Amino acid sequence: MSERPTSRHAVVSGASIAGPALAHELSARGWRVTVLERAPQLRDEGQNVDIRGAAREVCRRMGIEEAVLAGGTGEAGLRYVDARGATIAELPAGDNDTDGATAEAEILRGELGRLLHDRTRDRVDYRFDEQIAGIDDRSDGISVRLAGGDTLEADVLVIAEGARSRTRATVFDDVTVEELGLHVAYLPVPRIPTDDRWWAVHQATGSRAVGLRPDNVGSTRAALTFISAVRGLETLDRDAQIEVLRRTFADVGWQADRVLAALDEAPFYFDATARVKVGRWSRGRTVLLGDAAWSAGPFGTGTSLALVGAHVLAGELAGRDDHVAAFDRFEQVMRPFVDRAQSVGMGTMKAMNPSGSAGLAVQRVVLRAAARLAATPLRGLVEAISRPPSDAVDLPDYPPARPAALAAVPGGDRGVEGMSA
Ligand SMILES: Cc1cc2nc3c(=O)[nH]c(=O)nc-3n(C[C@H](O)[C@H](O)[C@H](O)COP(=O)(O)OP(=O)(O)OC[C@H]3O[C@@H](n4cnc5c(N)ncnc54)[C@H](O)[C@@H]3O)c2cc1C
Repeated sequence: MSERPTSRHAVVSGASIAGPALAHELSARGWRVTVLERAPQLRDEGQNVDIRGAAREVCRRMGIEEAVLAGGTGEAGLRYVDARGATIAELPAGDNDTDGATAEAEILRGELGRLLHDRTRDRVDYRFDEQIAGIDDRSDGISVRLAGGDTLEADVLVIAEGARSRTRATVFDDVTVEELGLHVAYLPVPRIPTDDRWWAVHQATGSRAVGLRPDNVGSTRAALTFISAVRGLETLDRDAQIEVLRRTFADVGWQADRVLAALDEAPFYFDATARVKVGRWSRGRTVLLGDAAWSAGPFGTGTSLALVGAHVLAGELAGRDDHVAAFDRFEQVMRPFVDRAQSVGMGTMKAMNPSGSAGLAVQRVVLRAAARLAATPLRGLVEAISRPPSDAVDLPDYPPARPAALAAVPGGDRGVEGMSA
C-alpha cells in the first residue's frame, strides 16, 4: 500500500494512550491532528502497564521502544505473599517480548502517556479542558463543535475516551458495557526501605487483594482490588470512595493499613472494570479506538490493544483516501485480537480473586507449584492467566512515514526512528 500525500485532518477525543498514540502515527504520516482532552492536563494516575507481543513491535516501529525500556520500573517479577508478608510464590519477569507475569517492557501508564505526548506536542494541536458538544457528519467532511465554542472541520473523528466514553453514545446505538464487578483503586504511597523491586500481591478472602509495585519515580504504586455486586461505585465522590475502600480493606492484613492511610493525601484513580462490545466500530466518518471500542476488562490488555489499534488505524487511513475502506480494514485486522482478549471468562477472573478460604488455598497450591516448576506447562498456564493474549494479531507491514510528509509539520522528523517498512 503506498502512502498518499495528505493534509487530511483527524480530530481525536481523549488524550490517555490510544489518542496520543494515534496522533503520533497519523502526524508522522503528514496528517493534521487535533486531540481533545476533558481533563485540564495529562492524567498522571495509574500504575505499571505491560507492553507485550505485537504492542512491543508497534513501539519498535514508532521509534519509542528504547524510551519505553529506559522508562521502565525494573520490576523483578510477581510475588504472592500471605497476610504476614511471607512469600507464597515468585514468578520472575519475562526477558523477551511476550513472556513473564511481569513483561520485560513495563512502564507507568502516566509515563507512557507523557512520552507519547512529548513526542507529538510540537506537531499536534492538544486542547485540554475541552470536549465535544456536537457532531455534524456529512458526505464531504465532519464538523466537530467543541464545548469551548470552536468548530473543527475534519476528515475523520476518532473517539478514544475510554470504556465509559460519553460521546460514543451520541453516534453509536449498538454498545454494550458489561460491568464485571471488579473494582480497582490505584495510588502512589511513600516508599519505605522494605519495598523492593518485586510486584507483591496479598490475596485475601472476600475477593480482595492488595498489591505494591515498584516505580521509577521514587514512590511505590499500590492497588486495592475487590469484587462487589454493588454498581456505580466509580461515580461516587472521592470521600465516599475512600470510605468504601476503608470498610472493604479494614481486616485484610499485610500492608493494607499503610495503603489505606495514604488515601487521604494521594491522587488516586478508582474504576469499576467493564467489558465494552460494539457491533461495528465505525459509523460514517467517526471511529472508536482503544477502550472506547473494546475494553476487555481486568486483564491488563488495554494499553497493548490501544497501541496496536492506533498503529493499525493510522496505517490504514494513510494508505487510502477512502475512510470507509480504512475503517473496514482496521476492524478486520483488530477484531480477532480483541475477540481473544475479551474471551477471558468471568471464571478466570473469579479464580484469580477467590472469595472463600478454600478457593484461596487452591490458588496457593497452584501458585507454589508453578513457581517451583519453571519452564513447564503449569508455569506457562499461570503466567498466561495473569497476562493477556498479546500476540494474536497479524500486524500488517505499513510503509514508514515519508520524510517529505514529516518535513511539512513542525518537529515532524521526531519519533519515527526505527520505524520498519
Ligand atoms: C487516569 C487513568 C489511570 C489508569 N490506570 C491504569 C492502570 O494503572 N493499569 C491499567 O491496566 N490501566 C489503567 N488505565 C486504563 C488504561 O489507560 C487503558 O486500559 C488503556 O491504556 C487504553 O487507553 P485508552 O486511551 O483507550 O482509554 P483511557 O485510558 O480510559 O483514556 C481515556 C481518556 O479520554 C478522556 N476522556 C473521557 N471522556 C472524554 C470526553 N468526553 N472528552 C474528552 N476526553 C475524554 C479521559 O480523561 C482519558 O484521558 C487507566 C486509565 C486512566 C484514564
